[in-house]
Amino acid sequence: MHGGIEAVVHQEETPAAKILLLRRWSDMPRHLQFNPHIHTGYRPLMTIRQCLGSLFYIHNETVNILTHGFAILYMLLTVPHLLPWNTKGTLVGILSWCHLIGAVSPWVGSFLYHLFMNVNYDEVFYRTLLKVDMVGIWLCQSFGAIPMMAAAVHCLADNIWYCCIFIYCTLSFWGLLKAMTAGSPWERRLCFAPPFLMRMLVMTLRCFGIGGGSPDALIHIILQDLVAVIGATIGALRIPEKWIPGKLDLVLNSHNVMHVMVVLAVCSMHTATLKDLAWMSDPSTCNKASYPSSDREEL
Ligand SMILES: [Zn+2]
Repeated sequence: MHGGIEAVVHQEETPAAKILLLRRWSDMPRHLQFNPHIHTGYRPLMTIRQCLGSLFYIHNETVNILTHGFAILYMLLTVPHLLPWNTKGTLVGILSWCHLIGAVSPWVGSFLYHLFMNVNYDEVFYRTLLKVDMVGIWLCQSFGAIPMMAAAVHCLADNIWYCCIFIYCTLSFWGLLKAMTAGSPWERRLCFAPPFLMRMLVMTLRCFGIGGGSPDALIHIILQDLVAVIGATIGALRIPEKWIPGKLDLVLNSHNVMHVMVVLAVCSMHTATLKDLAWMSDPSTCNKASYPSSDREEL
């Protein structure tokens, strides 16, 4: 009898037993029932310590946690070495910081959100975690895109440069305020629309050779938003798990696919930003014949 209890205690410590503790969709509190096509693999409500322990066995948030956990490591290990911190002028240094913040923050917010979403506090704590995730995405969308906006207006007069950056920052902060009070996932996505549309405008102008920025960065600038939008759409439409409900609970569901695609999108943003920062660091950039404003200066 005593040996039997010991066996149970011992069994509870093994990963296999932890998997047996996993719940079904219908067992979860309402605020954690966000995708009805994911049927199993839910962690029950847990302490913070147990959530940390859930890093070491498989459940339906494992892929989401690991994809963005590895993205944090990858960005922190690679990005700082590649940035041109020491080029003359403080502007490129400030823009390098913007890029580092933009390239790391979404994964930190997302990692914390997915790891601790089932902490046994209350729904208010869950909503706070959701806001941490949103702030991470916002830092990426706003700070991360500032180097691209700065490159676009790099060769224009100072007052126009400040005006454009000010408009972009205002739109970004407006989006953040709206995102913090948004009630639904669609409302949250729409909050990012104004700064997104401004980036689309700059991207379109760059496609036509209008405005500054490295010509080599263009394809990556297109990819950074295209891949992210495709990923967000897959996530919103819950494809493919809505076609085969309950079959993709642990891996390859829409949120997993979206996580990988947004990492790829930020890798494109990283490549584009490196090229733009190098382009801005070159003192002769604005005098080159390929740039339209140089024609204006010669007139
Ligand atoms: Zn996520």
